[in-house]
Amino acid sequence: MNTLPALFAGHGSPMNAIDDNAYTKALGQLAATFPRPKAVLVVSAHWLTRGVRVTASLAPRQIYDFGGFPLELYEVKYAPPGDPAVADRTSALLGAAGFPCAKDLDRGMDHAGWTVLLHMYPEADIPLLELSLDPYLDPAAWFAVGAALSPLRDEGILLMGSGNIVHNLYQIDRELDAKPYAWNLTFDAAVRKAVDADDRASLESWAKSTGIARDSVPTPEHFLPLLPIVGARRPGEAVSVFHSSFQNASMSMTGFRME
Ligand code: ZN
Repeated sequence: MNTLPALFAGHGSPMNAIDDNAYTKALGQLAATFPRPKAVLVVSAHWLTRGVRVTASLAPRQIYDFGGFPLELYEVKYAPPGDPAVADRTSALLGAAGFPCAKDLDRGMDHAGWTVLLHMYPEADIPLLELSLDPYLDPAAWFAVGAALSPLRDEGILLMGSGNIVHNLYQIDRELDAKPYAWNLTFDAAVRKAVDADDRASLESWAKSTGIARDSVPTPEHFLPLLPIVGARRPGEAVSVFHSSFQNASMSMTGFRME
């Protein structure tokens, strides 16, 4: 079986589920560039738990985990199946690496998963699982989590982080195409450089909102899903940017692939 890439996708506003823009078009084209996975495992910026958890039900429900959006968005149905066997495997790999991972039969799919995947696999016929973020883990641990999950890439599982490398809701502009803040552009460029150079010390530090990350990473949860994807990169693998744009002035939609 071919090895699948490890991906980091920005997700931005849930409105991207129904919008047609450069970012959603890029997602639509992405899936055709690598083999069809047997399941997708998404590290979600929108599922924070003490201890890492993985969705394990056969039919996880779609969660509309946002408020104040048009009715049209709440009418979007995207409900791929789960895959308990992949949950077992995920939990086993993480447990063996020192990260006990509970299998969660109740948790459904939040918008970090479904608003992205519906553009990639609109038929909703590829099982989707989510992995939670434990905000009590040191950021450096997320590289090790990614390395532990990396064997899934050889088993037909698409490993994806879903967050945003720049995500500041305090300074958001309602206009999707608003001019990005200078600090957004600067930090986006710095992160690209650090990811390309596998500069984990900088990424780990920025996850703590230090230095140039102050405005771009005011809280860690959207940045952290990048770290396991960096950790899942193997020696000699290339990094490329599959999409770059900015939304609402204070978000970067930059997406990476490692392969
Ligand atoms: Zn989000």
